[in-house]
Amino acid sequence: METRRVADILKNGQPEETVIVKGWVRTKRELKGFSFTEVNDGSSLAGLQVVIDSGISDYDTIIKKINTGASIEVGGKLVSSQGKGQKIELQADSVIVYGEADAETYPLQKKRHSFEFLRTINHLRSRTNTLGAVFRVRNACSVAIHQFFQEKGFMWIHSPIITASDCEGAGELFTVTNFDLNNLPKNATGEVDYSQDFFGKPAYLTVSGQLQAEVMAMAFQNVYTFGPTFRAENSNTSRHLAEFWMVEPEMAFCDLEGDQNLAEEFLKYIFKYVLATCPEDIEFFNKWINKTILATADNIINNEFARITYTKAIEILEGADKKFQFPVEWGIDLQSEHERYLAEELFKKPVIVTNYPKEIKAFYMRLDEGEKTVSAMDVLAPGIGEIIGGSQREERLDVLERRIQETGIEADDLWWYLDLRRYGTVPHAGFGLGFERLVQFITGMNNIRDVIPFPRTPLNAEF
Ligand code: ATP
Ligand code: MN
Repeated sequence: METRRVADILKNGQPEETVIVKGWVRTKRELKGFSFTEVNDGSSLAGLQVVIDSGISDYDTIIKKINTGASIEVGGKLVSSQGKGQKIELQADSVIVYGEADAETYPLQKKRHSFEFLRTINHLRSRTNTLGAVFRVRNACSVAIHQFFQEKGFMWIHSPIITASDCEGAGELFTVTNFDLNNLPKNATGEVDYSQDFFGKPAYLTVSGQLQAEVMAMAFQNVYTFGPTFRAENSNTSRHLAEFWMVEPEMAFCDLEGDQNLAEEFLKYIFKYVLATCPEDIEFFNKWINKTILATADNIINNEFARITYTKAIEILEGADKKFQFPVEWGIDLQSEHERYLAEELFKKPVIVTNYPKEIKAFYMRLDEGEKTVSAMDVLAPGIGEIIGGSQREERLDVLERRIQETGIEADDLWWYLDLRRYGTVPHAGFGLGFERLVQFITGMNNIRDVIPFPRTPLNAEF
């Protein structure tokens, strides 16, 4: 007999086939002479209905042990199901109980639990319908990302997790040290002496792999990172984690327009892929979590994204007959309410906003003619706001040096970054996508803590 996954059986199983299934019991119903058990092995939203006849050996002992949460192995024959809800079920010949789950204490009894509660039992929550669906979709998104870039000839590069430069100048860094914090070495002036630390200078968890991606793009042309990044943001929002995954493509010989084209093609590809590979999970989200996500996916796939400059966006917002909490004027950073107005109410589809004031963007973004704005772009999506941030990079050595000086960033740390402009510089561009924001966007899940298996947020690193 062949061991098979539930998803495969539900899709391809034929009556009379003999199979073995291993998984966890979701429900059990005892009737006269037999019982129904639903087994889920994580491969699909739906479980497999197993019919256990009281004629099998040890029936009474076995059936007592099969409570919700127990792990079992069932061998038997597939038969057409009489009941509604499934077309095939498993008629058990043998049942092995691996581990019981006490009905009094197992927290996931059959009822709806709040996501807040489920976060307190993070080690068990992946066995629920919703979290199961989330993590299958998260996996599909990961595959789609690699497939998209690999098909286009991009090289996956591994940027370091520990870095010695606060490149973004973003603050919000976690320090990496092997100092004994109760006994810090001090220098003559009483400051911590980092020359004695592991790396001989302050080191941090990375906030972005972009600068290293630029290095690799100058050798391999088109590259991408896909890995964890860290920010010590002390903000408890539904969109921020302290540890999250980022996707950062970087392209040599590319300008802001090429960057926008890639971002649009990329998002469309991922949505198409997930709809094609996880249709039941997406239906589930559309029914139980957010009734607009199928329409949103359709919107992303079938419509061209709107593209406007920041200056134009400000004009639109100033003319809008809507009261914003944060007043609008040229020079402000767009707030969530502004982004949402543009994407949700005005264009009703994703909008790419470009050419932001240089004062509110990073030093490495290419200075536009007139020197007021930089070649930055943000992709704003209905329901979520900023999902992608990117730019054409400053490839001119003199301009970059000037910008570094203006923004007060430590140039000494960036000598290697400047070298890229000294030796064989080319126009290049890239963007960063917050992976969890993408999963939120596709599933309609409200809280970012519920789209990553082990969320890290202020005061919480349990599990
Ligand atoms: P926000 O204004 O939402 O804090 P940001 O401007 O700090 O975003 P970037 O520095 O441009 O974001 O980072 C690139 C992408 O990473 C963002 O577009 C977003 O999708 C994602 N991102 C940023 N911070 C977080 C976080 N703390 N948790 C999860 N994703 C994040
Ligand atoms: Mn931020």
